[in-house]
Amino acid sequence: MSGRTQARACPERTCVGCRERAAKSDLLRIVAIEGACVPDHRGTLPGRGAYLHPASVCLDLAVRRRAFPRALRVQGPLDTADVRLAVEKTAAQAAP
Ligand SMILES: [Zn+2]
Repeated sequence: MSGRTQARACPERTCVGCRERAAKSDLLRIVAIEGACVPDHRGTLPGRGAYLHPASVCLDLAVRRRAFPRALRVQGPLDTADVRLAVEKTAAQAAP
């Protein structure tokens, strides 16, 4: 019995908030477009992507440590309002 085969089958990414690794499908892809972080729900937007758990704790951590500009290789601050909306929406959907 080995869970390794299964783990290898799904690509992992690191959450820029809590820095924990998770399956790509469990994370929200974020790209920078014109000074703003934009949630890429379909994973189709071009450019560098940052991955974040769709949770406000992870978003807060990422904002506090300026993880988005670093991960996305962007100079200056990035607006995260759209990401926050997406996170809040996801959290609302996940609630029972
Ligand atoms: Zn996280």
